[in-house]
Amino acid sequence: MAALIIRQIPARQDNYIYLAHEPETGLTAVVDPADAAPALEAAQSEGWKISHILNTHHHGDHTGGNLEIKQATGCTIVGPRADHDRIPGIDIDVGDGDTYALGKAVARVFDVPGHTRGHIAFWFGDSKALFCGDTLFIMGCGRTFEGTAAQMWNSLSKLKALPPETQVYCAHEYTQSNARFAVTVEPDNKDLLARVEKVNAMRSAGKPTVPDALGEEFKTNPFLRADLPALQQAVGSPGDPVATFATIRLRKDKF
Ligand code: ZN
Ligand code: FE
Repeated sequence: MAALIIRQIPARQDNYIYLAHEPETGLTAVVDPADAAPALEAAQSEGWKISHILNTHHHGDHTGGNLEIKQATGCTIVGPRADHDRIPGIDIDVGDGDTYALGKAVARVFDVPGHTRGHIAFWFGDSKALFCGDTLFIMGCGRTFEGTAAQMWNSLSKLKALPPETQVYCAHEYTQSNARFAVTVEPDNKDLLARVEKVNAMRSAGKPTVPDALGEEFKTNPFLRADLPALQQAVGSPGDPVATFATIRLRKDKF
């Protein structure tokens, strides 16, 4: 068991690529490389050799750098078993309940379908790090492109069961627009209003709002709160978390 050293690399418009370095063995994974160049440059400047790519899902802004990084480093690509055919260069398939070891850092893998059919998340418990791609965002969640609201709610419920101190390393800086929407769902949520102030100040200062603690999401992310009676009442689906989630997701899609 070893704690990862994690570096965040901004890419494209609003993507985050991550380098996760396991210091005892020296193994280094790139998580969701949108493009090769920023990942290769960041690894070089750290003096780390990329040994693995971890993909959460098949979208191009998460796998666009796969083949070029593999070509340059000979790395091993790990991705969702359920989407084997859509992950460029995949070598190792993983899925729900698997453990995946990057050297001495061990992740539990969750299937979290909804955004895509084969989406997975990697939870490195000893590092308190969750790499969740486009499933959970700060104060938001991914669009349900290839799945149903019920699937997405079920996927988010798995992540919701992780410890509150878990850091959410999601793949996009969507926080401010998520925050603007969240206050329309819960205008009286004091934790939410305080957090919106905080993230606005961070963005004004040019700072990333990712990662942040999962416990903050429990208090402020409307998509994780669809099981709360007050929120269910507010959207007109008392006792029904899936319908509540579906309504909130639909509203956000049109926001
Ligand atoms: Zn995506
Ligand atoms: Fe994405």
